[in-house]
Amino acid sequence: MTARPIGLFGGTFDPVHYGHLRPALEMREALALAEVRFIPAGVPPHRDPPAASAAQRTAMLELALQGQPGLCVDRRELERPGPSYMVDTLTSLRAELGDTPLCLLLGSDAYLGLASWHRWQELIELAHLVVMHRPGWSPTQAGAGAPARLLAQRGTDDATALTRHPAGAVLLRAVTQLDISATAVRALIGAGHDPRYLLPDAVRDYIRAQGLYQN
Ligand code: ATP
Repeated sequence: MTARPIGLFGGTFDPVHYGHLRPALEMREALALAEVRFIPAGVPPHRDPPAASAAQRTAMLELALQGQPGLCVDRRELERPGPSYMVDTLTSLRAELGDTPLCLLLGSDAYLGLASWHRWQELIELAHLVVMHRPGWSPTQAGAGAPARLLAQRGTDDATALTRHPAGAVLLRAVTQLDISATAVRALIGAGHDPRYLLPDAVRDYIRAQGLYQN
């Protein structure tokens, strides 16, 4: 296998912030990913509908990623009707990309909740799972449940395993943690405060121009 792996970063991105951007860039560099695709969810199955429209969330992502090689937006979940299940997204990417290794990038919280995802057991057959965790986080925090068992069965420390197989491994990677959430950014703006330095200036300007997140 020679193709460089592609990273996939799903989320609501309502709005995108540095807590998404910095880990994605670190993963691209640490794992020599060909690219990281940000995949905004159209209809997120696990949560309330986003405050910003699909077009607005995409526009903010494009502004945030402008000029950064190797980071891009993939719109397939916005173009698909119904709930945005990751298993469907990975299936369509796999059909397009053949045997190219795919790395689904997940925050450690998302990994711990994996067993609640639609047809979650199929995800590992379609992609590697790369768990981005805060320095010092221990896999024992994965507990005794399904994510811990998956880690015991499929876990590897060897990043080259990601290039040798199209899917199937779980890799843990420490990333710089920025304690930023979109929920907190929305609340800040709703309370009339300035979100500057939590997200790129171009995204802040767009939020202002569109009057987003104001109560
Ligand atoms: P919200 O507060 O609206 O739930 P969020 O900021 O958590 O949003 P999402 O779009 O839901 O952002 O997250 C997408 C992905 O980004 C998830 O895998 C999540 O674990 C990860 N993520 C979100 N914020 C951070 C952060 N500060 N550091 C690292 N990963 C993050």
